[in-house]
Amino acid sequence: MISDKLKRIAVNICRLVLAVTFILSGFVKAVDPLGTQYKIEDYLQAMGLTSLTGPMGSWGALAVAVVLAAVEFCIGIFLLFAIRRRLSSRLALVIMAVMTPLTLWLALANPISDCGCFGDAIVLTNWQTLWKNVVLLAAAVVVAKWPLQMVRFIGESSQWIVINYSAVFILAIAGWSLYDRPQFDFRPYHVGSDLRTGWNKMMDGEESPYTDFFIERMDDGEDITEQVLGNEGYTFLLVAPYLEKADDSQLDLINQVYEYAQDYGYPFYGLTASGEKAVSQWRDLTGAEYPFCQTDGTTLKTIIRSNPGLLLLKDGVVIGKWSHNMLPNEYDLDKPLEESELGHLSGDSVARRILALLMWFVLPLVLLSIADRLWAWTKWIRKRKDNYNSINKKEEKMRKKIVAGNWKMNMNLQDGIALAKELNETLKAEKPNCGVVICTPFIHLASIAQFLDQNIIGLGAENCADKEKGAFTGEVSAEMVKSTGAQYVILGHSERREYYKETPEILKEKVLLAQKNDLKVIFCIGESLAEREAGKQNEVVKAELEGSVFNLSEEDFRKIVIAYEPIWAIGTGKTATAEQAEEIHAYIRSIIAEKYGQAVADDTTILYGGSCKASNAPELFAKPDIDGGLIGGASLKAADFKGIIDAFK
Ligand code: PEP
Repeated sequence: MISDKLKRIAVNICRLVLAVTFILSGFVKAVDPLGTQYKIEDYLQAMGLTSLTGPMGSWGALAVAVVLAAVEFCIGIFLLFAIRRRLSSRLALVIMAVMTPLTLWLALANPISDCGCFGDAIVLTNWQTLWKNVVLLAAAVVVAKWPLQMVRFIGESSQWIVINYSAVFILAIAGWSLYDRPQFDFRPYHVGSDLRTGWNKMMDGEESPYTDFFIERMDDGEDITEQVLGNEGYTFLLVAPYLEKADDSQLDLINQVYEYAQDYGYPFYGLTASGEKAVSQWRDLTGAEYPFCQTDGTTLKTIIRSNPGLLLLKDGVVIGKWSHNMLPNEYDLDKPLEESELGHLSGDSVARRILALLMWFVLPLVLLSIADRLWAWTKWIRKRKDNYNSINKKEEKMRKKIVAGNWKMNMNLQDGIALAKELNETLKAEKPNCGVVICTPFIHLASIAQFLDQNIIGLGAENCADKEKGAFTGEVSAEMVKSTGAQYVILGHSERREYYKETPEILKEKVLLAQKNDLKVIFCIGESLAEREAGKQNEVVKAELEGSVFNLSEEDFRKIVIAYEPIWAIGTGKTATAEQAEEIHAYIRSIIAEKYGQAVADDTTILYGGSCKASNAPELFAKPDIDGGLIGGASLKAADFKGIIDAFK
């Protein structure tokens, strides 16, 4: 068995590895959507599936490129922040489960030299890619198995911000990179590349990325690469891989740049892979007068992701690159390049872009995470404070103290009414400091209920039937008890258990029916003398609770009042000592806590019963776990009963 801690560490390491890889992979694809599109087309070609992009042409592959970049990036961000943990881990697993066999095929069949998973930023061999994917697949399996072990960096309520912000950000980057050009250029023709030196090295037989770079004059086919790259000073290259498909919306600006080059004597060449027919069509369309040269189409697409795009070389070094949407205008071209900004390499452009990325994406998310965590922390502190206050409040509140009388089968109706009236008057005159209940024979209930002020003295029955209604001659149902106006019922009294053979199962039914009819149950438990002498009292009371009331929900159990009555003390004149009673009351409370939790146990009223009198009540009721008494004999005289109630004065 893996320990939880180990699981958590493993999942979070794997999740971070996956997150970083997916973010990087999605980001480099998004900054160069055209490069990704070309790679997808290469794949389709290698698989013989070029017809797939057919209906939508390269737009289809471009759309797939953008979606792929966005999905990878967003899954990476979700894993990083642990957003939608189950979904994001499963998506990562699905992607790795598809990519790993694909790269196995690439490694074995080698139809494409570079898989392109990190665009041009990190070029891996097919075997390197396969091993990388095997590791990532294993990591994805670990994360998908225990997704909930991922530690969150942001709360659920703030996740939608990260989700939307990441999606909008990556689509904006892709859109801007398409409109302008890759915001981060990892190709060998990026601004700052020394083409002259690289090309010369290649000519000297050294390894170089410029093997396919050549410039041939169109009219006589002469290779003028050395002449173009060797030119001291500035050279403009208009790069249009395929003139037939080139965007001609900016032809005025292109012509303007050409005229500017003419004015200041800078060489200007058009480079294309298209044939003469396309060149002359372009000339007719745009009025272009600049010379056109032939260059390899793939190389031109690599040089600039724009058709057409403009390149400015100085001494063979790329110092400027513009897509057709971002060409220099007349204001940029109002002075010679030597004196203008255009003519100088701006060294910090990459640093500026990284800073922009940090400011626009990383910083807002970091700030959001910090704010979210701070908010969660203050919420936690507030909750702790509230809990502390409510615990204190509970302690202040204390459970209800009750003195309940059990008249048993004593007194006729007239005597009963007289006693009830007397008690009513006495306690109305002098309000008790505890709840007072009298439980009378069924026959008295309706009459007493008529005049008893139940805000001061609750009325209860001594029993009720274990059946709802029907042919049960002599029985009184819980519903009937309730209909008299009574609120309480004693259940499980030892005399009923002993003389009327009421089993725990019968009592369980009675409790359910009583509660169904909104009667508050005073549930009696207690051991016999033999059981006490055998030291089995705890066992007995526990079994009685388990047999009849521990089946109740917490909510229903909270409505029960427990009465502990040692059978050997009932009506015998023998009383449990206050210590004995407290000991077993504390035990009863502990098993309630075990079953329902400490809060429920703390709120449960547990009465003591068994020869309780005005003389011993104060000592008994002073014990912390004794919350009052169930009184038999001493409840039959108002003065005696009042004496016990006064123990709470
Ligand atoms: C009782 O029967 O519930 C009881 C406690 O009786 P006594 O007080 O008479 O012992």
